[in-house]
Amino acid sequence: MTEAFGLKDEASFKGVGIHTGVSSEVLVAPSEKRGLFFAFPGGIFPVQSAVADGTARGTTLVFPDGSRVMTVEHLLAALAGLGVWSALLSPLGPEIPALDGSARPFVEALAPLREPGWDVAPIAVAREIAFGDSRGGFMGVIPSDRFEITCSIRYDSSAIGAQVYEGVVTSDVFAGDIAPARTFVLDSEIAGIRDRGLGRGGTADNVLVIGDGDPLPTSTYRVPEEPIRHKVLDLVGDLATLGRPLKGRVIAHRAGHRMHLDLVRRIRRGLLLF
Ligand SMILES: [Zn+2]
Repeated sequence: MTEAFGLKDEASFKGVGIHTGVSSEVLVAPSEKRGLFFAFPGGIFPVQSAVADGTARGTTLVFPDGSRVMTVEHLLAALAGLGVWSALLSPLGPEIPALDGSARPFVEALAPLREPGWDVAPIAVAREIAFGDSRGGFMGVIPSDRFEITCSIRYDSSAIGAQVYEGVVTSDVFAGDIAPARTFVLDSEIAGIRDRGLGRGGTADNVLVIGDGDPLPTSTYRVPEEPIRHKVLDLVGDLATLGRPLKGRVIAHRAGHRMHLDLVRRIRRGLLLF
């Protein structure tokens, strides 16, 4: 079934899923066939054929045959961030392994497998898109020759406070500044997450827990303002469900998976209209 993909090298990632707590594996092989594809026992599907759900503190993809996989965003971010837009991903379990909660282990293993020249044409944003939500979130994109992100968060009563990230996201920027940023959670959110049956695989090894009081010592963080950089990581991963690189300046304020994926749907709709 995979002959057409011209696969050579393959990376394997094993570990627990952060939400299910179930041991999982995913195989990732850069391919000659253009596009990001997921392989399941029932078939092989392009990422953009999936319905993406971002309502459970992560992004779940549901494919046309009903196959589903949870928490795809950090792996997809690594592929998109490195510019690997042609690959076959084979999840062997319900969820992509959390590893250390960042995209760094994915980047380290996948960067050597990159094949120059296997490019996929970008989607150039033709006109602006902007929308908000009832909780003060804002999401938008405006035309640009490059892939740029402006992302901000504001937590009123926590050590995180207000953080802003702004920049052009090249492969080097992604690998050095964004990929190491770990998943974070507020101490006060943990009980609610567990009540929803989520976060069963979350440990101090794959989540940065932030209290509601004083800021953590800077030595706790791998990169400066690690929380906002992780939000950028999630955004890069969710935008990768377009299946192609994006040329545009994406602006996100107090957004999350749900709004990121709403932007993806609106960009797709725009491609059909214009
Ligand atoms: Zn994340």
